[in-house]
Amino acid sequence: MLKLAPDAEQAQSLLATMRACNAAANRAAEVAYDQRILTFKGRDWVSILTLTGRILVPVAYQGRWLSASGTTMRGQADLVCRDGTLYLAVVIDVPEPPKDGEPDGWLGVDLGIVNLATDSTGQAHSGKAVRAVRYRNLMLRRRLQQKATKSAKRLLKKRRRAEARFARNTNHVISKHLVGKAQDTRSGIALEDLQGIRDRVTVTRAQRADLHSWGFHQLRAFITYKAAIAGVPVRLVDPRNTSRTCPACGHCAKRNRPHRDSFLCVACGFAGPADHIAAINIGRRAVSHAADDAA
Ligand SMILES: [Zn+2]
Repeated sequence: MLKLAPDAEQAQSLLATMRACNAAANRAAEVAYDQRILTFKGRDWVSILTLTGRILVPVAYQGRWLSASGTTMRGQADLVCRDGTLYLAVVIDVPEPPKDGEPDGWLGVDLGIVNLATDSTGQAHSGKAVRAVRYRNLMLRRRLQQKATKSAKRLLKKRRRAEARFARNTNHVISKHLVGKAQDTRSGIALEDLQGIRDRVTVTRAQRADLHSWGFHQLRAFITYKAAIAGVPVRLVDPRNTSRTCPACGHCAKRNRPHRDSFLCVACGFAGPADHIAAINIGRRAVSHAADDAA
């Protein structure tokens, strides 16, 4: 996101243009620009076509990768207004980070429902706040749907957007944290290969819907792209039995999971939260995959 620094007049014509486009396209408060109507003049200025003609707007940079060498912006951007400030969400080309061998280690990350993400050091990011917002809106929806008035619909729409924004922001915070942590420890990030998630038998039907929800995919996508920008390798591993295998003795059994959230090895007694155990196994599998690659 690039922060724009338009003067008052420029801001007004940008907002007017935005409003006009939205009325036509019936979209959220965003305008997609392509090369014909938006061009970058160096890195400090952007020329934007508005209803009142073309204007040259100064850019206050925010994305640190943009100043990094080798990145190039594509002439494709969304104009976004947040709390009165105008931003450009730009598409950039990031050069592939140099591959100087294996990272020092792998941070295994288990994505889930109770905890949105748990890493192999045992740090968990709870999904409680997101679920609470979702639940509140669900209840509201039930109440208002009987009314079906115009104002009720408007309120629902507003709430839905706020809910999506909140979930998105949460995913941004979590992914940023995980990638930062991997970067600090010169580690790669290991994730389960998504296909296999469906084979997990420990999730209920209701949770299954959650696993296929956009929020879950969004978090993966955020981790993947933030890692790419930061030069942190991401490796997808075979997800089979990650939550049933004992990291201490290697014993793999369904009975190692007495409850959905806990792990207790029936062979050696090793115990821990199920998602932490899964994250450890995921991280380790990335190491053995590395051995496969080398062979
Ligand atoms: Zn064991």
